Amino acid sequence: MNARLQGNEKRVALVTGSTSGIGMAIAQRLANDGFTIAFHSKSSVETGQGLAAAHPGASYTQADLSQEGQAGHLVSDVLARHGRLDVLVNNAGISAVIAHGSLKAATGKVWRDLYEVNVVAPWMLVAEAEAALRAASRADCPSCIVNITSHAGVRPKGASVPYAASKAALNHVTQLLALALSPAIRVNAIAPGLVDTPLTRSWTAAQALWNERSPMRRGAQPDEVAHVASMLVSSTYLTGEIILCDGGLNLT
Ligand code: NAD
Repeated sequence: MNARLQGNEKRVALVTGSTSGIGMAIAQRLANDGFTIAFHSKSSVETGQGLAAAHPGASYTQADLSQEGQAGHLVSDVLARHGRLDVLVNNAGISAVIAHGSLKAATGKVWRDLYEVNVVAPWMLVAEAEAALRAASRADCPSCIVNITSHAGVRPKGASVPYAASKAALNHVTQLLALALSPAIRVNAIAPGLVDTPLTRSWTAAQALWNERSPMRRGAQPDEVAHVASMLVSSTYLTGEIILCDGGLNLT
């Protein structure tokens, strides 16, 4: 579905965590698809402002989504600047690398920190954005949410048990919200395997696994995940899907 509406008004996409890695690639893809982009990050303000300046009509908002009230601040700021919201991509997320057998290393603080950013923040953003997404939705072009989860939320794998559990929770939330918000708002998730981003540059064991075992013999580039996001956003029908984007590793 074209991002340009009648009267030249453009549809608006908020991509959280869009100053690096997967989020930046998704924002750039959606900009190429014709969306006006609301960039966001926790802290890289200069990069965010630079990206906003480089994309016509775009904005940048800083918000630490681990903090109470910041999801509301982010959505209000986007609506104040753009007046509408058509697509929300919940990409911002954190990881913790802990051996699965090291139970005491996965402290309560680790669990709470991961849940706060990976599960609670996407939920709060959806709650804050729901009215605007409903207002922008049309029968022939429903509004859309894309959650970036992980293959670790589908299979018993991943950087740590708390990380995998947080992404499994977001996958389940995706399907529950797809039911609760239909037909006005479609809700889907992408569950990437290894993606070459600042987060994973030092993950040599995972890189070796993907190079040797996955059918595609490599991890993904951020733009290959962004391509899937663009497909999900352009659909007018898909909802409740969790798309594995792992180069086929799940088959082995
Ligand atoms: P990244 O570190 O490059 O980007 C993470 C983004 O999240 C940053 O822009 C950062 O600003 C934002 N963020 C982190 N904490 C935040 C907070 N408290 N408040 C607001 N924003 C915050 O990492 P990436 O690899 O591009 O990861 C993007 C998403 O993809 C994450 O949800 C991650 O879990 C998921 N993922 C990544 C991989 C991978 O291999 N890279 C695999 C599966 C899933």
